[in-house]
Amino acid sequence: MLAKTRAAEIDAQNVGKDFGSFTALDDISLTVGCGEFLTLLGPSGSGKTTFLMVLAGFEAATRGRMTLDGRDVTHVPPEDRGFGMVFQGYALFPHMSVAQNIAFPLKVQRRSASDTKRRVAEMIEMVGLGGHGQKRPSALSGGQQQRVALARALACEPSVLLLDEPFSALDKNLRNQMQDEVRRLHQETGTTFIFVTHDQSEALALSNKVAIFEQGKLQQIGTPRDVYEQPQNRFVAEFLGDINILPMSDVKSHGRFTEGLFEDQALRIVRPAQSSGQTLAVRPEYMHLTNKQQSNGNSIAATITGLTYLGAETRLDLTTRGGTHLILSQVTADLPQGFGPGSEVWAGWPEDKGILL
Ligand code: ATP
Repeated sequence: MLAKTRAAEIDAQNVGKDFGSFTALDDISLTVGCGEFLTLLGPSGSGKTTFLMVLAGFEAATRGRMTLDGRDVTHVPPEDRGFGMVFQGYALFPHMSVAQNIAFPLKVQRRSASDTKRRVAEMIEMVGLGGHGQKRPSALSGGQQQRVALARALACEPSVLLLDEPFSALDKNLRNQMQDEVRRLHQETGTTFIFVTHDQSEALALSNKVAIFEQGKLQQIGTPRDVYEQPQNRFVAEFLGDINILPMSDVKSHGRFTEGLFEDQALRIVRPAQSSGQTLAVRPEYMHLTNKQQSNGNSIAATITGLTYLGAETRLDLTTRGGTHLILSQVTADLPQGFGPGSEVWAGWPEDKGILL
């Protein structure tokens, strides 16, 4: 196991970036703590890469300020920030061996020959490429090439590692393996990682913190559980996965609860800390199927319109009496028998599993 490297804290304050009259980043403020793993998540064109490039110093911010461990680095060139970078397209030197690729940044730093040799050997072991040091990148698989890119970026013990969609060219199995690898490298090095992806499950699986971007704005930042279970707005709720949206009327708060009417049925949720929304949202996995109205929690009458077997889970499509489409995700092993398309059922969920948007 390697000694932990120094990790840095990054603070972005009111960062904005314009390309001509187009605003690609609008007033972004966030802090990435020492050794944290932050993922920037959002749809294509939401500004993730632009923000990463501003953090790296390859793009100058039009507005705002950035500090590294409290030191203002807003105008510091990329090579003086001490960050490592891994891109989607590996960017390995094709005419150099694996070992020479990893040694390259150490040579730029004028490390001694013995130090470079030791560090290269350590990095090759760390990314599981023992025995491949003398090969050219063209003789390696996509996953192995990405491992070399990770080793090269970590060789100089950067205080921050920036990763821009590094696995988007890999197939699903390899991608899962590389996610495990990155998580392990993060734990072993203790470095601050900032990772860009548009894949929700990748973001939730990898990070301590997720920052969700849309149209150049930061919509929410929080732990994976926070952003998934307590989204602050409909965009975040829908971007992170399927969610049932139930517009309510007559919304009122009584003690611990907020109550309202959905298609003339009374629904109740445990009162959220600070929300004045009128729409109730419930994740499909928190809704369950019953054949009669429940006395506890919420339930609404509906008809099953579709049933899709997905192995461990089964997805059910339902339509309420008022015509609202619902999705339920049930553990197949727990699915009650005797239901199918056309069945009249109830969809129920606990009062603490609704989100008010
Ligand atoms: P993707 O997932 O597709 O890479 P992204 O969220 O990383 O998307 P960015 O690449 O940051 O998005 O782009 C954000 C917006 O800024 C886009 O509308 C893009 O066209 C625009 N943009 C980015 N770079 C430039 C540039 N150099 N000149 C003009 N517009 C740019």
